[in-house]
Amino acid sequence: MSTSSHGLPSKASVVIVGGGIQGLACAFNLAELGVTGVVVLDAGYWQGGASGRNGTLIRGGFGTPEWTGLFQYSNQAWQTLSRSLGHNAMFTRRGYMMVAETDRTADMLHSITGIHAQHGVRHEMIRGARMAEVLPAIDGRQVKCALMLPDGGVAPHHAAMKALLHACEDRGVLVRYRTPVTGIERTGGRVGAVTVGDHRIAADSVMVAAGGHNPEVAALAGVTLPGFGMRIEAMALEPVRPLIRPAIALIDSLCYLHQTGRGEVVGGTEVPERPRMSLSTDLPVLAQTAAVYARLFPRLRTLRVLRHWAGLIHATPDYAPLIGEHPDLKDLWFSAGWSYGWAGGPGTGILLARAIARGEVDSRIAPFAIDRFARGKPLKDPAIVL
Ligand SMILES: Cc1cc2nc3c(=O)[nH]c(=O)nc-3n(C[C@H](O)[C@H](O)[C@H](O)COP(=O)(O)OP(=O)(O)OC[C@H]3O[C@@H](n4cnc5c(N)ncnc54)[C@H](O)[C@@H]3O)c2cc1C
Repeated sequence: MSTSSHGLPSKASVVIVGGGIQGLACAFNLAELGVTGVVVLDAGYWQGGASGRNGTLIRGGFGTPEWTGLFQYSNQAWQTLSRSLGHNAMFTRRGYMMVAETDRTADMLHSITGIHAQHGVRHEMIRGARMAEVLPAIDGRQVKCALMLPDGGVAPHHAAMKALLHACEDRGVLVRYRTPVTGIERTGGRVGAVTVGDHRIAADSVMVAAGGHNPEVAALAGVTLPGFGMRIEAMALEPVRPLIRPAIALIDSLCYLHQTGRGEVVGGTEVPERPRMSLSTDLPVLAQTAAVYARLFPRLRTLRVLRHWAGLIHATPDYAPLIGEHPDLKDLWFSAGWSYGWAGGPGTGILLARAIARGEVDSRIAPFAIDRFARGKPLKDPAIVL
């Protein structure tokens, strides 16, 4: 890939490394707070990262207070995102259903309703005839119960990313794709500049949101991050008339799916093989996803696979994000380690921008600090499909 530094400034207030949803959401909110001189640099093409390759599922409720506090805030931000940006992000509130196929998971879903109530996550426990009414396509005999979150939903990449990009540009943020950051300079104990090839941009702060590449971008600044880049795959079935209304997570089968407005069923499963940093696809995920669909959704059995693709995420030891200033380098910030970074993007963008611009570390992002493993406070959540 060519390195183009043409037209880049020599000074910025904040340089953001990565123009996926995390980078753009933070840039937009910095501009909203009145920060000028914000520059977003992305090595690849627009939507080339996980933010153009994900399942697009969004929810507020998880299985711990920390995850639920942050994601509920972000779910609310999704609901008003089009208005905030002034462009249509196409969030659709179709509901998000967490399905239990085992007694153990059913118990877990029952046990987390109190957390949801505390954080204002609307929810409904569903089973039997109500299940047949809300999700007739599922084989109800195989399901113990489901926790429905009516405010969850989906937002397609093309609309949400375009809305974010345009809103950034409307507010004077310089966003450049095909522009890889090749170095991050330190000045004393703080970050001093980024380099793009031989072009240097002095920066007051640097925020890294480089998806699966976060650990290697951190290394450019001489710091480490927990976790590693990892491939996740998804596939789309040929379009059919509406069968499935809510977004769905099958917790026991480690599977997620939804039906798009065009009628394609999009989703994937997690399998134990964990290839790193590859965008190629192969058979295990395809076979596993097809097996889960065929077992639980009889109407999907005859449909053909239309597309199958992969994206990279940054997997942390607890699969929770790493949000905040790096403990070893002042003014170097991260929005990293995201496995549910589409859902978490709009809310984290608001809170992280406040932390960078005003030094206010909100209680919803504080638990996700980078040093939580060193402090013995990992945040594994029982209601994720990873
Ligand atoms: C198949 C799949 C399904 C998923 N499903 C869901 C879902 O349903 N719901 C959900 O919430 N999440 C889902 N996710 C996760 C979600 O997509 C990610 O967590 C989210 O997109 C991360 O956003 P990001 O901005 O951090 O990273 P990305 O969108 O990956 O953006 C990072 C950017 O950094 C750039 N970059 C890398 N290195 C450099 C460098 N040196 N210099 C400059 N730029 C650089 C890359 O080019 C890239 O564009 C899924 C992911 C995948 C792959």
